[in-house]
Amino acid sequence: MLASFSYRTAGPHGPGTGRSPRDMDVRLLSHTPEPERAVAVAARLCYAPVGAAELMDAMEAEAVTRILKTIMTSGHLSALEHASYTFAIDGVSRALTHQLVRHRLASYNQQSQRYVSYAEEPSFIVPPEVEGDERRRQVFLGACDDAFRSYRELIEAGVAAEDARYLLPNAMETKIVVTMNVRELLHFFELRCCKRAQWEIRELALRMLGLAEPTAPYIFMDAGASCRRGPCREGKMTCGDPYPKAPKRD
Ligand SMILES: Cc1cc2nc3c(=O)[nH]c(=O)nc-3n(C[C@H](O)[C@H](O)[C@H](O)COP(=O)(O)OP(=O)(O)OC[C@H]3O[C@@H](n4cnc5c(N)ncnc54)[C@H](O)[C@@H]3O)c2cc1C
Repeated sequence: MLASFSYRTAGPHGPGTGRSPRDMDVRLLSHTPEPERAVAVAARLCYAPVGAAELMDAMEAEAVTRILKTIMTSGHLSALEHASYTFAIDGVSRALTHQLVRHRLASYNQQSQRYVSYAEEPSFIVPPEVEGDERRRQVFLGACDDAFRSYRELIEAGVAAEDARYLLPNAMETKIVVTMNVRELLHFFELRCCKRAQWEIRELALRMLGLAEPTAPYIFMDAGASCRRGPCREGKMTCGDPYPKAPKRD
């Protein structure tokens, strides 16, 4: 269902850097069981003479879809908050996680630069625009090397990791766990699958959507950038290159 995209995370680093390349690794750790049923039950409860537990057992599949269609087309989206997804994300940059954690209706845990002090040179995420050009790559990785060497010097001089880390670049590889409910996920996908989003967080959002979609195909069928559902919401800032339209809900 996803339009293809051609971004890559860090590829092979330069000779003699001693780093192993890291690719973005995104896994769906867990999600609410039967997420579409859980959401439909919560929505139906508002008008039902019986409780949610009974509805969970008794509701027909056809009713689940009908209720999902009603809430998703009407914009009454609070029931979507009853299903949540947890993703493990490795091999991404601090530049990415800084953008990710701006999404406030989510829970996060991230590898700490206070409590982890790096003895080995870590991986750095190299943007494709840099990676594709030998000179740019040398400049980029040279700056990362210098920063890391200075960081190590401070650690060896007795400076605490929480202070030495001020020198570490945004390119440094990090790991984060994020949990979002479906309402927030749909919002995140709208903003971050968009071609105006920065390449790395866009790749992450597309991968997260690719993992979530099979678990709740009706909910996520038109998820992603606004252009999948209608006109681009970016106005004058539009990229002018819309994704193919998603199928209509029926
Ligand atoms: C292409 C792009 C460019 C960006 N550029 C910049 C930039 O230059 N500078 C910058 O600082 N940020 C930038 N951002 C980040 C952006 O401003 C948001 O901080 C980020 O996308 C989180 O989205 P959000 O605030 O809609 O929602 P979330 O935090 O994910 O919250 C979801 C929704 O909940 C509601 N909500 C959450 N908190 C509140 C609240 N306190 N009060 C009322 N309603 C709330 C809102 O409806 C919100 O849309 C950019 C984002 C994108 C996608």
